[in-house]
Amino acid sequence: MKIETQCLHEGYQPGNGGARALPIYQSTTFKFDSTAHVGDLFDLTAAGHFYTRLSNPTVAAVEDKIAALEGGVGALCTSSGQAATMLAILNIAGAGDHLVATSTIYGGSLNLLAVTFKKLGIEVTFVDGDAPAEEIEKAFRPNTRAVFGETIANPALTVLDFEKFSALAHAHNVPLIVDNTFATPVLCRPFEHGADIVVHSTTKYMEGHAVQMGGVIVDGGKFDWTSGNFPGLTEPDDSYHGLVYTEACGSAAYITKARVQLMRDMGACQTPMGAFLLDLGLQTLPLRIRQHSANALAVAEFLTGSDKIEFVTYPGLAADKHHARAEKYLENGAASGVISFSLKGGRAAAEKVIDAFRLISLEVHVADIHSCALHPASSTHRQLSDEQLAAAGITPGLIRLSCGLENAEDIIADVKQALEQV
Ligand SMILES: *Cc1c(COP(=O)(O)O)cnc(C)c1O
Repeated sequence: MKIETQCLHEGYQPGNGGARALPIYQSTTFKFDSTAHVGDLFDLTAAGHFYTRLSNPTVAAVEDKIAALEGGVGALCTSSGQAATMLAILNIAGAGDHLVATSTIYGGSLNLLAVTFKKLGIEVTFVDGDAPAEEIEKAFRPNTRAVFGETIANPALTVLDFEKFSALAHAHNVPLIVDNTFATPVLCRPFEHGADIVVHSTTKYMEGHAVQMGGVIVDGGKFDWTSGNFPGLTEPDDSYHGLVYTEACGSAAYITKARVQLMRDMGACQTPMGAFLLDLGLQTLPLRIRQHSANALAVAEFLTGSDKIEFVTYPGLAADKHHARAEKYLENGAASGVISFSLKGGRAAAEKVIDAFRLISLEVHVADIHSCALHPASSTHRQLSDEQLAAAGITPGLIRLSCGLENAEDIIADVKQALEQV
């Protein structure tokens, strides 16, 4: 099936007389006939749902759909994108371990890695994604356990050099974990470019309508965990009578451990209703993400022609520094609905433009159906000095604009009238 068809038909196929829409199993628990059967479920020798923190039929249908969209062997839905990133890494790293990550990753991921993981004993070296391989190579240590990057970074809008980072990760026997939130599997399937694990904030384009938080981890199923670097996967798990994941679960070892061990213990699960809403969004994802991208390209081209603009960053623009990478890794070079641009008038001009928007709303959000904008210097990155802002690629006059599904001419008209105010 092509991806448009997969978005509608993967994960759930009703039988004769079955409900056409995905049923919502609004139940925390399930009923059994024998203690022997429940024992088998707990030993992982029988498959089935027994408690919604671990699995639920509605959530499972959406997990199967997302695994199919990404071309992976299994997926695990989580309560948010943050939970997906946290569990994806904790599944293979702990105190005394080290990670390599690109410096332009999403601010929430940056805090998680640099501050919270540090407290847990996991160290991170951040690297410039555009640096030559020989330089990035120096960041690796004997205790490095994963490389982390973003397909299209939020909000820097850099495009990941998959070829370089997957080669580096694999040379060190560690997986490449990629946050594919902005591209979605419609524009990029990271497993086809050497990634091993994919995470998403489904809160963004996948759900798409700004109604439901969520995240997902997808296992590509091809990484070899038996190098000795990942004892959690290759040595007995005492909490399952000595089960060894790589022996018992084959290519799905990683995602099975994430569910039966980490989701069991940490509990950041998606709800049946949340999974249903996510599924509604997924059904129209190909139509939406392509139109978001077309609208963003039109707005970015308009902004490029304005004399009030210092620069526009959008990988879909031919002049963008990552345009060639966008063409290589993204479907038709389409680069999602998010663009950023900086006003020549700096902070004051940016604030004035945002306040002057009529159609475009001021929101701490991106990647949903309505156009919205944010001024990072006075909100998400408020605590940073101008020098720190510069290091993060954020100028005081920068506006992050997430183009929705309104007619592009209406979005441009709103941007135009707001720019006239400065
Ligand atoms: C929003 C976002 C996250 C975090 O997801 P939440 O669902 O908000 O927890 C992670 N990565 C990227 C790229 C995001 O845009």
